[in-house]
Amino acid sequence: MSIKDYVALKKEEMRKEVSELKIVPTLAIIQVNDDPASNAYVKGKLKDAENIGIKGILIKLDESISEEDLIKEINKINNDDSIHGLIVQMPLPKQINEEHIKLMVDPKKDVDGFHPLSSFNPCTPQGIVDYLKAENVDFADKNAVVIGRSNIVGKPMAKMLTNLNCNTTILHSKTSKKNLEMFLANADIIVIAIGKKWFLDKQTFKNDAIIVDVGINREDGKLYGDARPDLNVKLQTPVPGGVGLLTRLTLMKNLLQAYYQEIK
Ligand code: NAD
Repeated sequence: MSIKDYVALKKEEMRKEVSELKIVPTLAIIQVNDDPASNAYVKGKLKDAENIGIKGILIKLDESISEEDLIKEINKINNDDSIHGLIVQMPLPKQINEEHIKLMVDPKKDVDGFHPLSSFNPCTPQGIVDYLKAENVDFADKNAVVIGRSNIVGKPMAKMLTNLNCNTTILHSKTSKKNLEMFLANADIIVIAIGKKWFLDKQTFKNDAIIVDVGINREDGKLYGDARPDLNVKLQTPVPGGVGLLTRLTLMKNLLQAYYQEIK
């Protein structure tokens, strides 16, 4: 099933489920910046929530806010039983340490999965795994290559694939061309998250390989992935209309799960 159809189906299932709940699941988003990309992401999350019947609350704070005052705002939400999930939209202004802030969100409400003790995995790798499982992808003893080692995508992705019994390798900016080509030629599952337009292109791939393209690269108002479209493989996720949709879906799934855990 295409990602678009899969996401539409899952959203419809969630909408039905939410319509039967007595207490409305509620998501709060704290936004401290006002850049166009963050505004677009926040708007998308609020729209997804509304479509499913989840109440979204946006708390926009002044960009000059101190770290201490931001933590006070976070604690207000941590202590508010009517709010089940909290996102602090990144990036944050220079005066605020993002790593400190990630640790301030109550792990039970941390639907982004950024806190090390969070009840949730980060949304992008979780969304990818859920989709591949729905597509009946075999993981055991498959060679998985993850390109990129960020804390929100590459590292958790590699951990999750390893837990699914893949033979997992992480490649990164210091990997040589020779090794990159050697690992790619033997890979059954490739996840690329580096932010370089069409980095995967002329290399050799197995023709039954799966390429999951996480990259988002903006050029002249258009979006491009980290892989050239239509490579000679069995399955390649598109950009746009691919992993971004899975990430947004997973955020809503996490919110519902947080809701059930908290209203118990
Ligand atoms: P990042 O931007 O923090 O780091 C980039 C990573 O790429 C680093 O780990 C680095 O080692 C690796 N890298 C850079 N150049 C490389 C090269 N030439 N060869 C191999 N590895 C190289 O990573 P991120 O936050 O995971 O974001 C990566 C991309 O994924 C970006 O385009 C981002 O916009 C996108 N992204 C998309 C979604 C989504 O929902 N679709 C979610 C998160 C990130």
